[in-house]
Amino acid sequence: MAGIDNQPRYDVVVVGGGNAALCAAIAARREGARVLVLELADAFGRGGNTRHTRNMRCAHDTATASLTGPYTADEFWDDLQRVTKGETDEALARFMIEESKEVLHWIAEQGVRWQPSLGGTLSLGRTNSFFLGGGRAMLNALYQTAERLGVEIRYRSEVVEIALEDGVFRTLTVRDPDGCYEVEAAALVAAAGGFESNIAWLKEYWGEAAENFLIRGTANNRGTVLKMLLDQGVAPVGDPTQCHAVAIDARAPRYDGGIITRLDCVVFGIVVNRDAVRFYDEGEDLWPKRYAIWGRLVAAQPGQIAYIIFDAPSLERFMPSLYPPIRGETVADLAHALDLDATTLDATIAAFNAAVRPGTFDHTILDDCATQGLSPPKSHWAQRIETAPFYAYPVRPGITFTYLGTRVNRQARVMMADGRPAPNVFAAGEIMAGNVLGQGYAAGIGMTIGAVFGRVAGREAARHVRN
Ligand SMILES: Cc1cc2nc3c(=O)[nH]c(=O)nc-3n(C[C@H](O)[C@H](O)[C@H](O)COP(=O)(O)OP(=O)(O)OC[C@H]3O[C@@H](n4cnc5c(N)ncnc54)[C@H](O)[C@@H]3O)c2cc1C
Repeated sequence: MAGIDNQPRYDVVVVGGGNAALCAAIAARREGARVLVLELADAFGRGGNTRHTRNMRCAHDTATASLTGPYTADEFWDDLQRVTKGETDEALARFMIEESKEVLHWIAEQGVRWQPSLGGTLSLGRTNSFFLGGGRAMLNALYQTAERLGVEIRYRSEVVEIALEDGVFRTLTVRDPDGCYEVEAAALVAAAGGFESNIAWLKEYWGEAAENFLIRGTANNRGTVLKMLLDQGVAPVGDPTQCHAVAIDARAPRYDGGIITRLDCVVFGIVVNRDAVRFYDEGEDLWPKRYAIWGRLVAAQPGQIAYIIFDAPSLERFMPSLYPPIRGETVADLAHALDLDATTLDATIAAFNAAVRPGTFDHTILDDCATQGLSPPKSHWAQRIETAPFYAYPVRPGITFTYLGTRVNRQARVMMADGRPAPNVFAAGEIMAGNVLGQGYAAGIGMTIGAVFGRVAGREAARHVRN
């Protein structure tokens, strides 16, 4: 492998190969910079978690071919404030939301195509644009555009060292199949994801429970770049235990199970833990506002496992997971198949059924089907579980991405712990998501953070180099 003397000098080096990295690379190149992208994965596995995505949430003032109605910046802000319970940098979040209007069109200009709006359990047709062909097709378009514009992309290239001097980026070290070498560039964009696939790091905050976490996306997001930056005085942002975590089929693989292992049937039944008892209100709010808390709820249960229990009429009401539900002709059969105590499960279901008050079931609104006198309650969509056969899905915490990250300003410039902006270091995507997401999640914001701050980071990095 070439030594440092043979390396061309780049204006902007981008670490990562997902949405944030590609948006940064394209934006920097369009500003005239010479850009290098370093992606740990090979060409087939490129694109980290972005490969698994389906949609992006952007503000817009009118309906379009792919969105069923307006979604104003104020409404987006209200939604974000609600899900984060105010744990967000308001100025930065409002800036992101305002920029998202233009990004909706900018992304399409880079070759990404939107599909007509969708229905389904997440009910996102008005707020979220769906990628035609999904995240992989979206990425393919971005890679094609980047390459056409002259961005250099190196696969199987892991950044193993970053040298900052007093907050100024100097060089980085890359390991590829031939060995290690150094790269120099005038500016760095860090877009290498969170640390969700680093079980040892997760254990620092979650203890042994993290051993039972499943990672919904790439095994490559180990947070090594994040750690290198934090170790060199970059200001951290966010609570390390906060993350996007949903309930996924417990039979999913450790990594890369993707979207097909997620389960959206919580609202149709009850959820019990290993002791066969309920632990949270399954009907607290509409599913798009609650699906991202269920991973954390299951993580807090013994053995980090839970079971969604429902009966025959609900079977066709939701998208199943990749695996078939576990079935029992009686509650006792089901308990046996799940290895749960049959007497306790029977008592849990009986208590629930007795508490259900009549109402008109409609899972698209906060309906009037609720329990009375039950703890925890089921506030909406409560229906008796009484028609055989009975079904269950076992679920575990499925970690999507973590929120601990690098603090940035609205130029996507990384902030140092002493409050100074790092002159030539930028960050975008999961690695800085915690600036916007202190906690909670609303579907599609991961891609907004990556696209908006990726574009800003690329543009600002190129401008920094030019000046
Ligand atoms: C199953 C699933 C479904 C999702 N669905 C949606 C959705 O529909 N809408 C939405 O908004 N969000 C969704 N998300 C979240 C979304 O994927 C992320 O928020 C977004 O893709 C993050 O983009 P990113 O570019 O920051 O990171 P990634 O796309 O994960 O890219 C990070 C890249 O960094 C590379 N990398 C890591 N370490 C190094 C290193 N040391 N050197 C070089 N390269 C390195 C990785 O290989 C990877 O390519 C989903 C996530 C998952 C897992």
